[in-house]
Amino acid sequence: MTIQADKETIIVEAFINGQNVKSLSQLAKENPTNPTEIVGYFPVTTKEQAVEAIEAAAGAFKTWKHTSIDERIIMMRRAIEKIRAAENEIVHLLSREHGKPLYDAHGEIYVSLMWMEFACNEAKSALQEEIKEHENGKTILSHDPIGVVAAISPWNYPIALSTIKIAPALLAGNTILLKPSPFAPLAAAKVAEIIASEFPAGVINIVHGDADVGVELTSNPLVTKIAFTGGTATAKHIIKAAAETIKDMTLELGGNDAAIFLESFDVHDERAMRRIVISNFLTAGQICMIAKRIYVHRSIYDDFVEKYIEAANRWIRIGDPFDSNTTVGPVNNLKQKNYVQGLVEDAQKRGAKVIHLGQILDQKLFEQGYYLQPTLVLGCDYHDPIVVEEQFGPTVPILPFDDEEQVINLHNESIYGLTSSVWGKEEDAISVARQLEAGTTMINTAAVQGLDVRFPFGGFKQSGIGREYGVEGIRTYTESHVINVPKTLDLPYIPE
Ligand code: NAD
Repeated sequence: MTIQADKETIIVEAFINGQNVKSLSQLAKENPTNPTEIVGYFPVTTKEQAVEAIEAAAGAFKTWKHTSIDERIIMMRRAIEKIRAAENEIVHLLSREHGKPLYDAHGEIYVSLMWMEFACNEAKSALQEEIKEHENGKTILSHDPIGVVAAISPWNYPIALSTIKIAPALLAGNTILLKPSPFAPLAAAKVAEIIASEFPAGVINIVHGDADVGVELTSNPLVTKIAFTGGTATAKHIIKAAAETIKDMTLELGGNDAAIFLESFDVHDERAMRRIVISNFLTAGQICMIAKRIYVHRSIYDDFVEKYIEAANRWIRIGDPFDSNTTVGPVNNLKQKNYVQGLVEDAQKRGAKVIHLGQILDQKLFEQGYYLQPTLVLGCDYHDPIVVEEQFGPTVPILPFDDEEQVINLHNESIYGLTSSVWGKEEDAISVARQLEAGTTMINTAAVQGLDVRFPFGGFKQSGIGREYGVEGIRTYTESHVINVPKTLDLPYIPE
């Protein structure tokens, strides 16, 4: 279990076969608001420990797969209650290690629990065996567990993107190895340990580290499914590592989600303007489904920009994640801060106009942490890097368009297709939405505000393979197994 070393410092260890496992080397996780402050330490799992964890999961699978769905649901519901009871403690840890404001960290737990509840409610019918009597006999279709799942999660929603995998994988009868991101390993490990405390040894194992341990998880022959959320570039390495043993995969990857504002959008709708600002700058823009490029019909473009700046200046308050006035915290890590800053500087060099948004509540903290003041970027070319690349940070370009065909092409020419949004009169917006290549399209809202865990979530093209959430997000942890009992045992066209 997580050890509270002192009031301030958290130490997590690998968790293998129901036991904490000491590691020879540990890494420190700094606080993004004050990088000299260590929030906690986490281990670097060795290759030998990773193999031990995989073998533990494979061993546990032999008995776990025979448990009944009712038993699994009871265990998962107990875990949900424990997470609920520890919510404040988890949220504080998440805020400190990640940099997201407290309300946002609570939001992450809210989404995680909503999904875990949904998975518990739906698992029984999603996994129900079907028996069909037909003219040629009887067929039994079962949804069998796949085996050992390697769940690899990113830093931006470390708890939600771990539980999105753990809950359905276990309910479907698989065992799991979780590897959280080294940029936010502590709160995710804490939640996974809480869940693990309700399940038999070996059913959930937690390992830590980066690509080295990731390679072992994705290439080891005992691992039969990979559930990965992260960057598209990392996914390409994973596909290669898994190729030798042809593993089942769910890949939830990057996006460059567009928000399209049609001529019929009312720029005076302050609630809608607030929603698009939140869709750009929640979690300091570090969400896969955040709106990362805005296209506005030329007839309303100037008014839109004016109203957008007003709305952004009202909502964006950059400060200490523990201050209830703060809506935007720091970027999670220095690498990401430098990357986003580089994209904005590049746009500026290409002639774009950069407008700083919101108010800085604490200048000293702002200068000390990995903070970036949110920016609006105007006057870009349609194919500038800040428009076509995933920024994953607090900046957004706004570009005008002339007609629907043009904006649909601009949307669809992206290598990504995760989410998108269309804003305006509902029927106009739905008509454009139908033509967009994206896993989810939201009407008059965007990003997590339009997320519905009851329906499948995932991307077209290089935004991923497969779906999480919804019934599909449970079935994705199963193999369809058909048992055929045909009446016609001998085929008529095969000669005696
Ligand atoms: P990342 O790809 O750098 O890392 C993700 C995870 O992969 C981490 O745990 C990392 O340690 C691990 N990893 C790194 N190299 C590996 C390797 N060779 N083999 C196995 N594992 C390896 O991504 P990130 O920076 O943590 O997250 C940001 C990215 O995630 C963005 O592109 C974002 O869009 C994407 N994302 C997608 C979704 C979605 O649902 N589609 C959700 C959140 C984030």
